[in-house]
Amino acid sequence: MTTSIDRSAVQAADNVWTMAQQQLDDVAAVVGLSDGIHGFLREPKRVLEVSIPTHMDDGSHRNFKGFRVQHNVSRGPSKGGVRYHPDVTLDEVKALAMWMTWKCAVVNIPFGGAKGGVICDPKSMSMQELENMTRRFTTEISIVIGPEKDIPAPDVYTTPQIMAWIMDTFSMQHGYSIPGVVTGKPISLGGSLGRDKATARGCLFVVDEAMQALGEPIDGARVAIQGFGNAGMYAAELMSERGYTIVAVSDSRGGIANDKGLDVRRVVAHKEETGSVVGFGGADAVTNKELLEYDCDVLVPAALEKVITRENASRIQAKIVAEAANGPTLPEADAILHERGIMVLPDILANAGGVTVSYFEWVQNLQETSWEENEVQDRLHRKMTRAFNETYAQAKRLKVDMRMGAYVVGVNRVAEATKLRGFYP
Ligand code: GLU
Repeated sequence: MTTSIDRSAVQAADNVWTMAQQQLDDVAAVVGLSDGIHGFLREPKRVLEVSIPTHMDDGSHRNFKGFRVQHNVSRGPSKGGVRYHPDVTLDEVKALAMWMTWKCAVVNIPFGGAKGGVICDPKSMSMQELENMTRRFTTEISIVIGPEKDIPAPDVYTTPQIMAWIMDTFSMQHGYSIPGVVTGKPISLGGSLGRDKATARGCLFVVDEAMQALGEPIDGARVAIQGFGNAGMYAAELMSERGYTIVAVSDSRGGIANDKGLDVRRVVAHKEETGSVVGFGGADAVTNKELLEYDCDVLVPAALEKVITRENASRIQAKIVAEAANGPTLPEADAILHERGIMVLPDILANAGGVTVSYFEWVQNLQETSWEENEVQDRLHRKMTRAFNETYAQAKRLKVDMRMGAYVVGVNRVAEATKLRGFYP
């Protein structure tokens, strides 16, 4: 039996924007933020809603709605991906933009936070329609983006090809090529080596650190991964190469599990052939709901928000939850996991590898150079292990969970920059 991700249990839960604000409120109390700075960080700096008239293949025009939210620029230009999904809302984009601010601060790259989104179903659109929509969206948000202002990147259902269209549209409007306006580009257009797998690789690095901190052996440790896109699929590949055993994976259509371990390369081939992991031979079918509660050592939610809830948190069997997705755990579930001694590696740490290599890409573009892949990976490794250690030290010092530890690291950095700059005028 296969189902898409079950969100029924979270219908009554607060929306993600309220959740993001609540997380900030909690940390504000712990670090003693002044009311002025707390109030400032609680809202986005800028919100742009745009209308995107698009030529469709049948000759008609469809009007899509899109957003670009800049949450904060205290530490540098704002940074964050663009999501194409039917469930995109302004509140979701605001939450994702706020999380980008903390994420960039946790890994200490000189960016603020932003996010974009378009309400659309990219799976039902042709390449031509996607190109038309992307070019008009880029035009509409071109008043706020730029290599020194705000730099988009891939997120859910957006690809290097889509980044290429963003780069080309922005460049054509300015009359010269501006690769630094967007990251996650194809390599031949100034993309960075290692950017495609960066989110997954960063996640692997922090899981390795966490395993070591908990005294758990890596070899044969059992991993379940929800989501098989850029984050989940590469996490499965890299973690199995590293010696973890991948026992369950899923995508939006459902999941598969095998206690002896899945042959990840064959699962990837099956997904490429059929469009889903579902139906892979030699594995049992599991639902997305069952996958989260699967018997494993490490659970990697790598799909969408709000999947770990008050309802299922008590049944999660993993020792470590590594949030490759943004916002997969509701605050009430966080408390339950913490109480049960499960270590949650929060999104703003666990998936920060993507934006970190985006930063490397932007630096290479501005300097008109390109780095070898091993240089990218070494630098990523240093950034991620340092961020893990700083987070872990704060969590231990304050006797709080890793999410609060990461928030203390990130919010303190942003608050300090804000204080030093002061409020203008
Ligand atoms: N969309 C990714 C994230 O949520 C990457 C953002 C970026 O590279 O700017 O972190």
